[in-house]
Amino acid sequence: MPGTAHAPVRTDDVILEALPDDVTASLQVRSAWLKRLPRPQTGLEFLVADLQRWTPGQTVRVAFLGGNTALHKEISDAVAPIGGACNLKLDFGITPGTGAHRTWSTSDTTHKAEIRVSFDQGGFFSLVGTDSVDVNIGSPAGPVGGRGNQRSLNLGGFTQGKPSNWQGVVRHEFLHALGFHHEHQNMRGPCESDFRWDDDAGYQPTTDAQGRFVPDAAGKRPGIYTYLAGFPNFWSKERIDFNLRTQESPDVVAGAFDAASVMLYRFPALFYKTGNSACAPTGDGIELSENDIRGLKLLYPAVGPSMEAVVSRRRDLLHAVSAPAGGLESAGAGHGGSSFAAQAARMLRESLSHV
Ligand SMILES: [Zn+2]
Repeated sequence: MPGTAHAPVRTDDVILEALPDDVTASLQVRSAWLKRLPRPQTGLEFLVADLQRWTPGQTVRVAFLGGNTALHKEISDAVAPIGGACNLKLDFGITPGTGAHRTWSTSDTTHKAEIRVSFDQGGFFSLVGTDSVDVNIGSPAGPVGGRGNQRSLNLGGFTQGKPSNWQGVVRHEFLHALGFHHEHQNMRGPCESDFRWDDDAGYQPTTDAQGRFVPDAAGKRPGIYTYLAGFPNFWSKERIDFNLRTQESPDVVAGAFDAASVMLYRFPALFYKTGNSACAPTGDGIELSENDIRGLKLLYPAVGPSMEAVVSRRRDLLHAVSAPAGGLESAGAGHGGSSFAAQAARMLRESLSHV
């Protein structure tokens, strides 16, 4: 969900959410490794999508760095509809009597929690699903990543003041933490073709005192690439494509496009080709949509056939990853032995220990 910059911004400024560069870089290396995997290697095509979801029935611990009990309670209350909609327990480690919530620190040597919330980085963001505990994600010394001493979900500035749509922001980030991706990047959606990527013909790049790209003297408007290149985002084309273009990768399992989802941004008018874009949100961006809830139930089904399907798929995956001959984990296979393969095997074993 769009965040807050530290220089004075206007209410109509859009600050897009983005993971730190070192995190994005590690995600891109993993995607490249995945693409290099020999096909068909039965069952591996959705490896990351499978791995990014927690195990149905699992207790996922949440902890805070900073903030106070009142703020922690506001966040755990806002998240309650998510935990209540699916077979996954979000555990905030609340102490009866005091109401104190679990905390973590940057000097932790183990994972005090799967989801480690902070308020001290710029903007709002979250790692996706089990990437939150993937030690390959983020640089070892970076503030954000999958290690126990790193932030996995950030609600920048909430300790100073919450945005008016804060419950929507919290639910959006926690859905990321449960494996959801952005709805505007849904390959079955209309956004990529509806976005105004380029400037109006003949646009003369014009900025204001803060470096914000604005309409030129003839009223021609900047497109998405130009607008986001200026204040307050200063994004490169590569970063724009990574965060806004459709994700055509096996990493993501896409349902039908949902304009009411809290995972769909509300962009300014200049982002859309038309005034009534099919990509524009119809929901309030605060409450979970019916499809958000359906997605949660799909990812984390109650005990029964669909849960068994998830478990047996994980067993097949673990076999494909850890098979002594040709398994990804075994270094001898020419494409095996990577830290990603080791992590995949570790997560699958850990996941199957929960069922
Ligand atoms: Zn997001």
